[in-house]
Amino acid sequence: MQEQAPIRHEWSEEEVRALFALPFNDLMFQAQTVHRQNFDPNEVQVSTLLSIKTGACPEDCKYCPQSGHYNTGLEKERLMQVEKVLEKARKAKETGSTRFCMGAAWKHPADKDMPYVVDMVKQVKALGLETCMTLGMLDEDKAEQLADAGLDYYNHNLDTSPEFYDKIITTRTYQDRLDTLHNVRESGMKICSGGILGMGETATDRIGLLRQLANMPVPPESVPINMLVKVAGTPLENADDLDNLDFLRTIAVARIMMPASHVRLSAGREAMSDEMQAMAFMAGANSIFYGECLLTTPNPETHRDLQLFKRLGINPEQRISENDETQQQVIMKDLQKQQDSSHFYEA
Ligand code: SF4
Repeated sequence: MQEQAPIRHEWSEEEVRALFALPFNDLMFQAQTVHRQNFDPNEVQVSTLLSIKTGACPEDCKYCPQSGHYNTGLEKERLMQVEKVLEKARKAKETGSTRFCMGAAWKHPADKDMPYVVDMVKQVKALGLETCMTLGMLDEDKAEQLADAGLDYYNHNLDTSPEFYDKIITTRTYQDRLDTLHNVRESGMKICSGGILGMGETATDRIGLLRQLANMPVPPESVPINMLVKVAGTPLENADDLDNLDFLRTIAVARIMMPASHVRLSAGREAMSDEMQAMAFMAGANSIFYGECLLTTPNPETHRDLQLFKRLGINPEQRISENDETQQQVIMKDLQKQQDSSHFYEA
């Protein structure tokens, strides 16, 4: 690894706009250079995401099939029992994930749900997995409870720029989101926060989103960059496609602005070609969700991911503390086993 660039927190709009305006190859080169100063360029962190409570969410996020405001035909489910969650977590570990993320479609967790959620965190952690949750807004007290249970990461996305935000969500404010992130940071947990591209936002909105994230006193450790999945029944089902190159530029600029964060290629990966994903890794993305379902939208089949990793010479990132049978051995063994399987996804 080369010498690390210092982390900056005062990115101006002009500076970020200038990064976006670079010739594509220059931008990719700069992003890859920063990436190599901070990470092994051939490692990607792998997380699994499980919906522990699906649908009927009181919020009105216009991209989300889980919102109770839209009819997307999604079957709502109650909070999943801890034993069922553990079963999924064990399976995620067996297939090579190092982090297990649990998501609930809530405005915020209710007091009555906290004991279950806390129990989930403790038990999933006991399996040797890193834990992450996304449960909606958190006040100080609930953030403390989750931190005390040992939750490693809390996900709460900013989604977009402050200026575009109210075109997408009206039931909670941008400040509500910033307050939750503040409570998470104060409790000592790590932050996972990013946004969604392709919702009709302008280039200036993408700049605004990245500035909000990078200019935090401590930027999020994990930055998911999602491509909108247009779900029928949601207000954004007919949104215009985003130019793939603009998506890649956003990943590259995120990498340059937040050099020490994991930038996650997140929702929308299913619709991306292998070449597009390879380019996103080149631009500095170094984390993915792995498994067949990303909350309620499809994710590339596990086998396709394994194949792609192999073709690109990418290894799943290890947890430092992992000293039993390594995740890499597990994933490589699985790869071998699946090599001749007819189940590979044909893109
Ligand atoms: S994104 Fe989250 S908060 Fe918004 S509607 Fe969906 S589940 Fe609810």
